[in-house]
Amino acid sequence: LKVLVIGSGGREHALCDKIAESPHLKSLYAAPGNPGMERVAHCVSDLDAADISAICGFVQEKSIDLVVIGPEAPLVSGLVDALGALKVRAFGPSQAAARLEGSKAFSKAFMKRHGIPTADYDRCGSLEEATTVLGRRERFPVVIKADGLAAGKGVFIASNRGEAEDALRVLFVEQRLGEAGRTVVIEDYLIGEEASFFALVNGEQVVPLLPAQDHKAAYDGDRGPNTGGMGAYAPAPVVTPQLAERILAQVVRPTAAGMVAEGTPYRGLLYCGLMIESGDAFRVLEYNVRFGDPECQVLCMLLESDLLPVLFETASFTSSELPAQSLQWAADAAALTVVLASPGYPGPYRSGDVIRGLEEAETLPGVKIFHAGTSRDARGQLVAKGGRVLNVTAHAATLREAQQRAYEAIARIDWPDAFYRRDIGWRALEREQR
Ligand code: ATP
Repeated sequence: LKVLVIGSGGREHALCDKIAESPHLKSLYAAPGNPGMERVAHCVSDLDAADISAICGFVQEKSIDLVVIGPEAPLVSGLVDALGALKVRAFGPSQAAARLEGSKAFSKAFMKRHGIPTADYDRCGSLEEATTVLGRRERFPVVIKADGLAAGKGVFIASNRGEAEDALRVLFVEQRLGEAGRTVVIEDYLIGEEASFFALVNGEQVVPLLPAQDHKAAYDGDRGPNTGGMGAYAPAPVVTPQLAERILAQVVRPTAAGMVAEGTPYRGLLYCGLMIESGDAFRVLEYNVRFGDPECQVLCMLLESDLLPVLFETASFTSSELPAQSLQWAADAAALTVVLASPGYPGPYRSGDVIRGLEEAETLPGVKIFHAGTSRDARGQLVAKGGRVLNVTAHAATLREAQQRAYEAIARIDWPDAFYRRDIGWRALEREQR
């Protein structure tokens, strides 16, 4: 097969590495790709992930058999539909199905229609409406979410009325998120532990993957501003096998069935962001219509079966059997990834630091380093370019060992000013101790 992976982050690097192991692969392209992917893929760095017609042109020119789409934006803009019109298979949902992530107002209403547990909410299309809704709210915090895609910047947790009014001003008056913030969802604040539940979905067929947890907050102890994710691990012990069964029955299957019933069958990877509340109750915080980043990196480290046929089958035009039994995970193993970010992230950050020592770090057993925001300077040196730069990922028999190895690998990387968390995995390790 000739495969094109769309994206340039650590998630897409991990997917490329995994796809490259497949005996079914003939050639692999990544657009725009990154220096880490160059080891396994031809990077088409001038092909923009947002340029649907350029991607369609490239796919036809190279006779690509399968396009694997990493990020959400091209899915929400309809890349899969455009490729489908050319009879090219793409892994990812159609534009209509991608509304599960692309519109929070849509996803909340969808969950309500199908009895899928989620926080109570109101949808507001204007400042007046939102102010009235807020006026009725007695309990704080409340959560205010921009309807559209905002790359993690569209969620405001307001601990009092004043903060909530500020958030509404940012969205409706200053219009800082543009179109994405013209409609908002105001919802109840939920308390608990977050977990990420992934499933391959093809129409009504669903195949769960391993549950994972990520660390969104910038600083140790899960404090500080939100980021794209500072680290992740799998499996996540908070999702026991019994809980996973209930999540499948109460969230994943009804979502797949609901999308079929509404005439917009879902195909691709469905990511359910969950809040596990006390007493093992849970509610859906959000859907994402693609792999999580950096959760994908740890899943790829633990997946033993060939990923390529699985992606190919899930990307078929018609509902076919998903190869459930063929998904093999490393037994008695865990994987953990730590994100190295540029100094200053998640605020304004510095780019251009030279990074050395990755080869040395990767000689540690079970360690792989995925590139997320790297580039080469004029002298060919690897430099940081972007907020999140590297994902130092380790695979071991236990989560504690995986954590030790990841941090050992970081110690071998020569990038003195890298910013990273020192406690990735703490929730699961604490749970083990209890
Ligand atoms: P992502 O970057 O994962 O796509 P997003 O911007 O689409 O995120 P959400 O995942 O809905 O937005 O929310 C981001 C984070 O805000 C969640 O991971 C969670 O920590 C917090 N959050 C969202 N909704 C709630 C809620 N109802 N109660 C408590 N915390 C919440």
